[in-house]
Amino acid sequence: MLRQLFTPDWQAATTLAQLPLEQLLERDIRALVLDVDRTLLPRRQAELPASAEHWLRHARNLVPIHLLSNNPSRRRIGHVAEQLALPFTTSAGKPRCSALRRVLAELGLPAAHVALVGDRIFTDVLAGNRLGLFTVLVKPIDPDGQPCQRDRLQNLELRMARWMGAGPG
Ligand SMILES: [Mg+2]
Repeated sequence: MLRQLFTPDWQAATTLAQLPLEQLLERDIRALVLDVDRTLLPRRQAELPASAEHWLRHARNLVPIHLLSNNPSRRRIGHVAEQLALPFTTSAGKPRCSALRRVLAELGLPAAHVALVGDRIFTDVLAGNRLGLFTVLVKPIDPDGQPCQRDRLQNLELRMARWMGAGPG
């Protein structure tokens, strides 16, 4: 049970901006719920890196997208969402499920056809897995929009999750 909750369905070796969208579409994913901080936006920055913006503009032509952030700042998250005309939620309280459940209801799709993409196991992956979404763990982005290959926080979370029995096999 724990193993399943803390294990992403897909642990990507890339940031969101390099994530091959076709592979999600091939799995019959019909909508995306995206984390914002360090998935789309580098820490302490308000502008999307060009790579993330490019990915988002392409993706939103193919599937509905909702930005789901634990960040309380409507200014920060709203700024990104408005740039791309995307619906968004702040103070989402992940890993709690209430906000995510509302988003699923709005999308009107079964959870298994919705992917939740984020950089944190104990918020993003856990919330998504609790409701049966297809969860994708991506590398967090550094201030230049590049992947943090050895992110301390994500590595710590991966070790803790493994200790609790998560992981392949
Ligand atoms: Mg994040």
